[in-house]
Amino acid sequence: MLRPILRLGDSILSEPTRPVGAITPDIETLIDDMIETMYAAPGIGLAAPQVGVSLKIFVLDLSLGKNPAELHAMINPVFVERDGMQLEEEGCLSVPGFTATVARPRRVVVKALNRHGEEQTIAGEGLMARALQHEMDHLNQCLFVDRLRGISRDLILRKIKKLSKAGKW
Ligand SMILES: [Zn+2]
Repeated sequence: MLRPILRLGDSILSEPTRPVGAITPDIETLIDDMIETMYAAPGIGLAAPQVGVSLKIFVLDLSLGKNPAELHAMINPVFVERDGMQLEEEGCLSVPGFTATVARPRRVVVKALNRHGEEQTIAGEGLMARALQHEMDHLNQCLFVDRLRGISRDLILRKIKKLSKAGKW
């Protein structure tokens, strides 16, 4: 089932997330819905708070559904390693229509449970590292605009405020 994607300004995006205790049928349904919603958007990643659920879960697929091996469901993820630096353009399904250059580590390793409750470790460089960090940020109430310097952040927030007033956000 498709779930509506919340946008910047929705208070749920700023609520602390809780770790998943057990992978119940409800959690499995949530993960299936998140994958469907991510593909429909389309996007390469989606975190549970973006569909209104304050749990530590995100899904990721750089292939946009073309290669099943690239689909990852990450439950209770934690960083194991982070190094280097990259500067690339970035966007977010919760901030549609806006992109900005964001500085992030070039390479990361993230440990999480998969949907079967098994521990998995994913290492990523470049776009994969960026996507992993972007989704981890969602679980920590941080959007890519929060990582921008004052002026570029203010510019985006001001435009969104205007759209919001016009009922277009
Ligand atoms: Zn995002």
